[in-house]
Amino acid sequence: MEDRDDDRDGEPTEEDRIALAELILKLRTNGIRDRRVLSAIEGIPRRLFLGSRHQALAYADQAMPIECGQTISQPTIVAMMTEALDVSPEHRVLEVGTGSGYQAAVLARLAKEVYTVERYRSLMEGAKDRFRVLKLDNVHTRIGDGFEGWPEAAPFHRIIVTAAAEKIPETLVEQLVSDHGVIVIPIGQQGNVQDLIKAVKVGTRLEQQTICAVRFVPMVHGIAERL
Ligand code: SAH
Repeated sequence: MEDRDDDRDGEPTEEDRIALAELILKLRTNGIRDRRVLSAIEGIPRRLFLGSRHQALAYADQAMPIECGQTISQPTIVAMMTEALDVSPEHRVLEVGTGSGYQAAVLARLAKEVYTVERYRSLMEGAKDRFRVLKLDNVHTRIGDGFEGWPEAAPFHRIIVTAAAEKIPETLVEQLVSDHGVIVIPIGQQGNVQDLIKAVKVGTRLEQQTICAVRFVPMVHGIAERL
């Protein structure tokens, strides 16, 4: 009964808190320093984003399978990408690849508004339920093709893509503010290891740096036909 009440308001339970504290230590060991990022992660029970078969490893620093053959990223990667994105409380952020909604939930604690796009309807439905439980009413969702971004809500201060593309989609760059807008995106060939890229838009110029090697599911064109 108690657990159920806790789930309903989305607050971490005592057990979640202990597991989250351990996870935060692990993230620190892995070089994550940004206190705001760590505290955003500490406030989101990752357990809520995983199916019943994966509960035992909900706070392990591991990527895990979610529905539709997709994955929720390893917490260290979520933290690194969020740190690289350098989000401020007044920012409007676009995420491509909602998946479970975990990365969007972490961003919702750091940004003013989060716009997140997913090509699978069923994944988005699950994610929307979680945003509701967690009372994250600054997350806006759309089922669509992330290659198109979200033109009506542009420009964005920050864009994060949580699926791998072969190159940075031009449409997304166009939807970024020109005064130091930041995009973080895995770039590389399908099925390979990719480079996690951070690019800063200054005027029409894009200043790029590689953060590390990562392995993401591919960005796929169009809305998924089934599910
Ligand atoms: N950020 C997610 C993990 C995403 S996995 C989380 O925290 O759980 C990558 C997601 O990108 C998948 O759900 C996949 O369906 C989605 N995706 C891939 N290509 C896309 C596209 N063109 N538009 C929108 N979503 C896309």
